[in-house]
Amino acid sequence: MPTDTKAGGLNDEHTAEVTDMTGPTSQLTGDVVGAGDPRYEAARFGYNHLYSHHPQAIVFCGDTRDVVNALTWARHNDVAVRVRSGGHCLEGWSSVDGGLVIDVSGLKSVQIDAASGLATVGAGLNQLEAVTALGAHGLAAPTGTEGSVGLVGATLGGGFGLLTRSLGMASDNLMAVEIVVTDEVNGVKAITVDDTSHADLMWALRGAGNGNFGIVTSLTYKVHPLPHVTYVKATWTGLDDLREAFDAWQHSAPNTDSSLTSQLEIHCGEIRLLAALCAGSEAEATKLLGPILSVGEPQVTTTTAPWADIYAGFQIPISEEAANWKFTSQFIIQPFPTAAIELIGQFMAKAPSPDCNYFTNAFGGAVKSSEPTGGSAFAHRDALFYAEPGAGWGVRGGPAADEQLTARALAWIADFSESLQPYVDGAYVNVPNAGMADWATAYWGANLDRLRAVKSKYDPGNVFRYEQSIPPATEG
Ligand SMILES: Cc1cc2nc3c(=O)[nH]c(=O)nc-3n(C[C@H](O)[C@H](O)[C@H](O)COP(=O)(O)OP(=O)(O)OC[C@H]3O[C@@H](n4cnc5c(N)ncnc54)[C@H](O)[C@@H]3O)c2cc1C
Repeated sequence: MPTDTKAGGLNDEHTAEVTDMTGPTSQLTGDVVGAGDPRYEAARFGYNHLYSHHPQAIVFCGDTRDVVNALTWARHNDVAVRVRSGGHCLEGWSSVDGGLVIDVSGLKSVQIDAASGLATVGAGLNQLEAVTALGAHGLAAPTGTEGSVGLVGATLGGGFGLLTRSLGMASDNLMAVEIVVTDEVNGVKAITVDDTSHADLMWALRGAGNGNFGIVTSLTYKVHPLPHVTYVKATWTGLDDLREAFDAWQHSAPNTDSSLTSQLEIHCGEIRLLAALCAGSEAEATKLLGPILSVGEPQVTTTTAPWADIYAGFQIPISEEAANWKFTSQFIIQPFPTAAIELIGQFMAKAPSPDCNYFTNAFGGAVKSSEPTGGSAFAHRDALFYAEPGAGWGVRGGPAADEQLTARALAWIADFSESLQPYVDGAYVNVPNAGMADWATAYWGANLDRLRAVKSKYDPGNVFRYEQSIPPATEG
């Protein structure tokens, strides 16, 4: 692999050969960063510094042609590919040693048609950029809560956050995509997919699309007028109120008015409730949250403002976040008994670092009722809530984390997740459980066989494969 765009017959400009979005060329185009490039170190890392890969090169694509050319080149040269947008894959699977990372983070186009209620955006937008762009038109679509996460990466696996009980999963609002897929022996083509054209692939991309079928280059969303949101933050100091607060939350949050979505986070020294009420008042929000806010003496703040302002306001700069992360994902369909809540308190009390937490997001509401017309591969609509034991440690930009601390953090998260297994059901593909024996069933349940058939149809050569990619139906 060349280390600059001029070596080895590569061009440094977009070539014109590919005009019909099929792939007759096998030249890499776009901005190619190889191992000798001074930008390589920064370019090869994703969000989670626990994982470090050395790809042959990263190609930063500027348009769909660059993506077609990159995939064509990789196929002709028999080089492994990984697709990357926001780079937040928690297990580091959007990169690979010795392979080609096809990075679409430069695809930043935005077209909003308020009249039709549709927005088409490039696959390079992160969630903050998408929320901001829609907010400028008084519109919103559901996304996850961390602004730096790639919109495409969150959406293709499901995508939930503080608008979810009101507007559904991000993937429920996905109406169409442009995607670059393999074709024939070494071919590549860009196709448009929606509920009438390639409907089986559209279904699969709503919940199982990450790195499995092709490279999404643009996404069309249904968007919603949203004049303002009331945001509530409540904090309980210490964990003394944990049992009562958690129990009140798990019985109320998944069943309350669907315009309210809330998250409960358990940290080492405090409990935090975060809630968003779509288009409601502060009095309505605190009334709906009454069962939880009446536990103990939380400190409560409320803000009513445009969603884009609130969303931007709760972001934490990446530079201030821990360098290393290990999360595991779980869905809960029956309320936790007291024993499970006590386990959370016991594990948080011995957390190996201050950035560890237990995160939850209420489901119910539109998650249950708003499956799109063409259906969706997302398999957890009956969950009461999503939950995630998470360990964060090490200083970003600082020296590598102490090995003993890393070992302690990994052991803690493994024990924590394992101890809750009797009370949970399924897992979330966007927060992968590496090493889980039955991961595919945990992510997609009864949808797995259909997903394998779609995989065989669109990627029969299994070009898009990684540690937990969907195996084609023909494989064992
Ligand atoms: C700090 C943090 C907070 C999070 N919070 C939430 C949350 O609130 N809600 C939620 O639902 N999830 C959340 N997640 C999980 C998040 O949705 C996933 O990590 C997501 O897949 C990351 O997308 P990305 O584009 O940033 O990552 P990447 O590493 O770029 O990609 C993630 C996966 O998608 C594939 N992919 C990327 N681009 C494309 C493309 N164009 N076409 C096809 N496949 C592609 C990659 O190959 C990889 O498999 C969070 C993750 C982190 C790290």
